[in-house]
Amino acid sequence: MRSKRVWARLLGLKRAVVEDVFVGDQGEVVVAARPNWRERDRCGICRRRSPGFDLGEGRRRWRALDLGTTFAYVEAEAPRVRCRRHGVVVCAVPWARHGSRFTRAFEDQVAWLAVNCSKTAVAALVRIAWRTVGGICERVAAEAGREVDLLAGLRRIGIDEISHRKGQRYPTVVVCHDTGRLVWAAAGRDRATVEAFLDALGEERCKRLELVSCDMAAWIAGPIGERCPQAELCLDPFHVVQLATDALDEVRREVWNEARRQGQTALAAELKGARFALWKNPEHLTARQRAKLSDIERTNRRLYRAYLLKEQQRQIYRLPAKSAVALLERWLQWARRCRLPSFVKLAKTITQQRAGILAAITHGLSNARVEAINTQIRLIARRAFGFHSANALIALAMLSLADLCPSLPH
Ligand SMILES: [Zn+2]
Repeated sequence: MRSKRVWARLLGLKRAVVEDVFVGDQGEVVVAARPNWRERDRCGICRRRSPGFDLGEGRRRWRALDLGTTFAYVEAEAPRVRCRRHGVVVCAVPWARHGSRFTRAFEDQVAWLAVNCSKTAVAALVRIAWRTVGGICERVAAEAGREVDLLAGLRRIGIDEISHRKGQRYPTVVVCHDTGRLVWAAAGRDRATVEAFLDALGEERCKRLELVSCDMAAWIAGPIGERCPQAELCLDPFHVVQLATDALDEVRREVWNEARRQGQTALAAELKGARFALWKNPEHLTARQRAKLSDIERTNRRLYRAYLLKEQQRQIYRLPAKSAVALLERWLQWARRCRLPSFVKLAKTITQQRAGILAAITHGLSNARVEAINTQIRLIARRAFGFHSANALIALAMLSLADLCPSLPH
């Protein structure tokens, strides 16, 4: 009897009775167990006690945390019950989540590792495929998500789609500006996705949103305007600055093409090399890039003007609100008559979207937080490569950025 209690302890088995321990064909340690009487005959989904149905498919094994260097399993019968709500369902077991081939402790540890370690480290340490890690993340995140209400008390949120790599679809995410936490994510980038979020939030809480930051996409602004009319839309500074960077790049390409057409190969090569100097924020430039920039200032006035336009626009977001508003007006005047088509066009767009841009400035919406979350999600998306579904990526993101990650089983 004593040794059975030791085995239960070793595998972290609670509310269960150990029946036997043996070494399997592959040298693995197998602990045969059954749920204690309180845990018997419960529906695997809702855990309601239900009448027995049949013996199911016989004995099953759940992989447990390794014992030293040895694989360990819990083995038990997996009878079925007939639940009033869920029909015929395999019984719940106290040591594992429904539908899993792993114990709860094992899954918690894998989820923790997936959040904190590299992909190869996780797969090598726990000896399971990366795909399987994705499935575990889904189960752990789903359970944790049912236990906390991430949408409680939301006032200021940001909605964003994570940009795509070719052939990859990243999710739409909702971030709380006050806590910097990811609170919702789903696959898709359309009106229905935003509506699904608003449905989850519920009518009452939609009315309590004060501020929603997003890019200029109509599929976000549309449903927000209809269902949260009191919420002020703020245009995410990150996206506005991105537009200016795009406009600058258009000018650079024009100038470069011109130089090539006119056979000025040296100039063309120089312009091509100047790409990063133009893109980077001036405070991060290396000495060489700074030299490159002053070359451009001397040799190419149009491109340099475009560069200044981009930099001044970025400056808007670094000033106190009042001077920022004034600078925005001055910037618009300059851009409208700068004779660079891409910036004239941008000035038009910004004039149209002025309300949202000003709202972001007056509310001092820090884009640093949203950007930080975006960067992290992109990193997670890169790591999640090899997961079988977008849901697994979302689960890993929620575990990492919504504080849903379980603590280590010990
Ligand atoms: Zn049930």
